[in-house]
Amino acid sequence: MEAKGIKGFKDILPDDIKKWHFLEETAKEVFENAGYSEIRVPIMEFTEIFSRSIGEDTDIVEKEMYTFQDKSGRSITLRPEGTASIVRAYIEHGLHADPQPTRLYYLGPMFRYERPQAGRYRQFYQIGVEALGIDEPLLDAEVIMMLWHLFERLKLNYLELQLNSLGCKNCRPLYIKTLRNYLTDKLPLLCPDCKKRYEVNPLRVLDCKREQCINAVANVPGIFDSLCPSCKKHFDEVKGYLRELSIPFVVNQKIVRGLDYYTKTTFEVISEKLGAQNAVAAGGRYDGLVKDLGGPPTPGIGFAIGVERTISLFKNTPPEQKPLIFLASLGNSGQAFSMKLARQMRDAGIKVELGYGDSLKSQMRKADKSGTGYVLIIGDEEIKKGSAILRNMRTKSQENIPFGSVFETVTKRLRPEAQPEGLSDNI
Ligand code: ATP
Ligand code: MG
Repeated sequence: MEAKGIKGFKDILPDDIKKWHFLEETAKEVFENAGYSEIRVPIMEFTEIFSRSIGEDTDIVEKEMYTFQDKSGRSITLRPEGTASIVRAYIEHGLHADPQPTRLYYLGPMFRYERPQAGRYRQFYQIGVEALGIDEPLLDAEVIMMLWHLFERLKLNYLELQLNSLGCKNCRPLYIKTLRNYLTDKLPLLCPDCKKRYEVNPLRVLDCKREQCINAVANVPGIFDSLCPSCKKHFDEVKGYLRELSIPFVVNQKIVRGLDYYTKTTFEVISEKLGAQNAVAAGGRYDGLVKDLGGPPTPGIGFAIGVERTISLFKNTPPEQKPLIFLASLGNSGQAFSMKLARQMRDAGIKVELGYGDSLKSQMRKADKSGTGYVLIIGDEEIKKGSAILRNMRTKSQENIPFGSVFETVTKRLRPEAQPEGLSDNI
């Protein structure tokens, strides 16, 4: 048997996980400070939850879903995105009865059967938010502000926020008509997929990544001339708030998104550093979705951040936050002492790594590799003398510390500001 993972499914190894934690923790803090609570939904739903919400004629539903029958013959799908499941949960648990907006965030894996390449996987992770129950432009601006704030906290530069409005169920059909008229002449230039999209869902043509189609729609009429007065007003107000908040954006009338449920405000954040897969986050309003999935008419807005693409923009590994000490010890009593000390220091929030191996020399080599600032050495000699050696790995200086005061002294050296609580009596 060959130990080999599935194509497009990636392992995230310990060397990379610090970046993941940094993104996850920063996002949690930013979202929770804005009143969002985490929701965890299953990674599978009945297939119709996705096909109904994302739309039958979209690439995701047509080509990209991992769908199978479970043992009772129901059609089940691994989630290709988070919004549909969260809206299903919002309806199922009656969250619309709470004071609105309901503010939720989530993180986890999504699954799409796409062609794996840089920045595109078959299992990938998203961190996202959904705010339901309010249709005011102020909420659109707050949600976008939060996304921008997160990217600022992550110190990511060279990002561009692109903004569009997709209108509502009243005015979008007008634009689709205009678009189809325009595309009639261009039909021979379009790819086979887009020829079909022209019939069933011409908006999708604007989202096609093929060069022939990008060229064919270069001068397509924008949607703004088709927007109804209320969608126009909504979009103007969102832009007004963003200007007031000094959040830079550009308007791109070709952002149609690959999912059918979007209405009014839609947006993407793209990075010029990412090559072909350049979108790091995307989102928008979905004022018809709750009703489409069987709930009461309820507006909503949200976004999803692509975790792998965002992390690929990090220049450095985030610094280790916790102080670390390495305990190198020999013999039964030395190792038992180390183990008890380790438990006590870990309790006090210090990261403690125990050395394994039958010589102090090999343990010191491991200590060196661990990047620790200090090593506490307890060899046979030290046990005899009743004191340990604390070695500062940066300055190479050493000091002898009697066993009775090891905890206090080490805690002080590692965290000069902390007040040790005299726990050494227990050792
Ligand atoms: P793309 O245009 O790159 O196909 P999308 O419009 O399909 O993206 P969304 O459904 O809006 O993507 O998902 C939001 C974010 O999730 C994207 O901006 C991207 O960062 C990330 N993402 C989407 N699909 C993948 C994938 N297959 N692998 C890795 N990240 C992905
Ligand atoms: Mg896609």
